[in-house]
Amino acid sequence: MKGIVSRIESKNIYVLYEEKEIICYLRGRLKLEAEWKKDKLLYTDLIVVGDYVDFELNEDGTGVIEKIPERRNYLSRKAPYIKGVSEKGKRFEQLIAANVDYTFCVVSVDKPKFNNRVLDRMLVTAESCETTPIIVINKYDLMKKRKKDYWYDLYTALGYKVIKSSVVTMQGIDEIKQLIQGKTSVFIGHSGVGKSSILNQLDSKINQKVDEISEAWGKGKHTTVTAQLFKLNDNTFVIDTPGVREIEPYGLTREDITHYFREIAIVAKNCRFNTCTHTHEPDCAVKTAVEEEIIPFERYDSYLRLVETLDEEKF
Ligand code: GDP
Ligand code: ZN
Repeated sequence: MKGIVSRIESKNIYVLYEEKEIICYLRGRLKLEAEWKKDKLLYTDLIVVGDYVDFELNEDGTGVIEKIPERRNYLSRKAPYIKGVSEKGKRFEQLIAANVDYTFCVVSVDKPKFNNRVLDRMLVTAESCETTPIIVINKYDLMKKRKKDYWYDLYTALGYKVIKSSVVTMQGIDEIKQLIQGKTSVFIGHSGVGKSSILNQLDSKINQKVDEISEAWGKGKHTTVTAQLFKLNDNTFVIDTPGVREIEPYGLTREDITHYFREIAIVAKNCRFNTCTHTHEPDCAVKTAVEEEIIPFERYDSYLRLVETLDEEKF
């Protein structure tokens, strides 16, 4: 029998099959194969929300997953630091969801204040995992007139799809509803930006808690990625990620990061040195472009900070 993983709670893997959720377990052999890694994170990463699985039904109504499924792609992040699990200076990859078309990167105008570095980290993560990022700037009802569409214009000019949204005025909600049709979409964003509020507007099947600081994702529980999949119709799936507080791209080099900052990548070709780090070198085309405001300073700053995090970890 074939189903799709809708959520995972410790050893219970919930598999959607004909509109029902069946609790499944992994065949013991699969767990043994994974055990040599001696890492809790990797154990939980054997199966992830969005995986299509083959399972056999037991007499008691539970199921057994026989095989680790193949994935078209998967969204992952750098796992947070956890005492005793990550070695010093080394952080693991943590899977968030599999077989993803769109990664909706949700940010807000205010409350919490718009932070372009957070957005850039989400964009790099989404793109490096071969998913298509879509930016949602929520709480547009709180936008001050004089700031107008600064960030909307900036990211649109870079070629990203950007949606201005508000669950107060309902601006942008229909556009999101249309985009998700026939796709698998993951929604990510820092808590408080209104991700749950938006999801609740998309379909009556979705009923996520709004504005609640759940103890489940409180201190010390950062290891668990608690994604949840909703099937809206036969080919439309939406995945919420309430347990994912922060997104940092995993396993990227400086060159990779440059590649995903599109406007920097184009200009960097003209730097004098091909090893240019765009910080102190002479004849750096990137620095010149920033001075001439061809590259927005905020993006340059965001780029440098992301690269710094790599240096700290000695990738
Ligand atoms: P999440 O943590 O990203 O899932 O955010 P929630 O959906 O729980 O929303 C956090 C808070 O922001 C709640 O008090 C919501 O009522 C509020 N909120 C969500 N969307 C909007 C919006 O578009 N405009 C305004 N003004 N408030 C919003
Ligand atoms: Zn340079």
